Amino acid sequence: MTAAFDPTGGQPGKVRFFLPGPVWVREAIRQAMAHEAIGHRGKAFSDLYARIPPRLAQVFRTRGFVFTTTSAGTGLWEAALLNLAPERVLAVVGGAFSERWAACARDLGVAADVLEFPWGSPADPAGIRKALAKAKYDAVTVVHSETSTGSLNDLAAIAKAVRESSDAFVLADVVTSVAGSPVECDAWGLDFALTGSQKAFALPPGLGLAFASDRFRKRAKERSRAHYLRLSEAEAFAEKNQTPYTPSTPHLFALDVQLDHILAETVEGRWARHDALRRRVAEWAQERGHSYAAAEGARSWTVSCLKPRPGVSAEALVARVKERGFTIGGGYGKWKASTFRIGHMGDVDLASLEVLLAALDESAAEAAA
Ligand code: PLP
Repeated sequence: MTAAFDPTGGQPGKVRFFLPGPVWVREAIRQAMAHEAIGHRGKAFSDLYARIPPRLAQVFRTRGFVFTTTSAGTGLWEAALLNLAPERVLAVVGGAFSERWAACARDLGVAADVLEFPWGSPADPAGIRKALAKAKYDAVTVVHSETSTGSLNDLAAIAKAVRESSDAFVLADVVTSVAGSPVECDAWGLDFALTGSQKAFALPPGLGLAFASDRFRKRAKERSRAHYLRLSEAEAFAEKNQTPYTPSTPHLFALDVQLDHILAETVEGRWARHDALRRRVAEWAQERGHSYAAAEGARSWTVSCLKPRPGVSAEALVARVKERGFTIGGGYGKWKASTFRIGHMGDVDLASLEVLLAALDESAAEAAA
């Protein structure tokens, strides 16, 4: 019998850091980042970079192009918009991050019509079809896993609705879904899908990763308004196994190691582990009387956003569990005081989650509202 895959890389049961990003980083990654300096125009770099896009494509489930850049996830919201240079976008909003992407579009001079769904409710593809029938949009922006509410949109159904009812580009924030729960860039017909390294890839923050479809790249070649994040430059340099500008080589050494780890677990295996983690949280929450902020059947696999049972303060719970050495997320935005969030993504194992849940039980007893 083969031994079960150890996602922690040698520290099972030891994870104490459960933010919904940045996430806990295993020892092998921290060591990979300590690699001695190399120049980014030399052979050592191009040998390293040659290994990255083909394996990233396996995680993003595409035969197309996936690129990396030194950036937070927010920079790639800009990349999606600047490279496409749309005049008008439909911004599907249902939480703090989707709201911010709409604000980002406006800041870049793009007209953004907001199609709003209540926080915690998934976006309704039929509503998106209706909005697309009423006006002409160049693109639709959608956040797959809304980290602020712990809700998961049906991105496949949304992309299908967009494609069937318009020729708008589908721009997807898969920041807290890709590498943690199913994301199928090609099969779902996405045009741009972006994430940051500090989420389910379980690397330190600082690296942006994004997929772009053929038609997105074609259009970007014709009319991009981007400079630092210009896709056609990234593509041209990727041909030479380089990046256009000085990259964070420590992150790329780390990504190189992490892609081996992810593919050894297998992409589906990683999804299954995240599925088991979120199911365990659901079972525990139900037993303890904590309720989900997101609707049933539309919950993220990587972050659980919970309202504590009556009589327990979410903010006190986060503080009490911190005293026990565990970091979890507080509520976000307008849900700051009323919810707490457990990030269970990246290289977290079930044994560590059990230790956290036990600590939360002890803490809840001391966290009176
Ligand atoms: N999108 C989602 C869904 C997020 O959860 C976050 C950060 O938590 C972001 C975008 C922004 O990422 P960054 O802080 O790397 O810019």
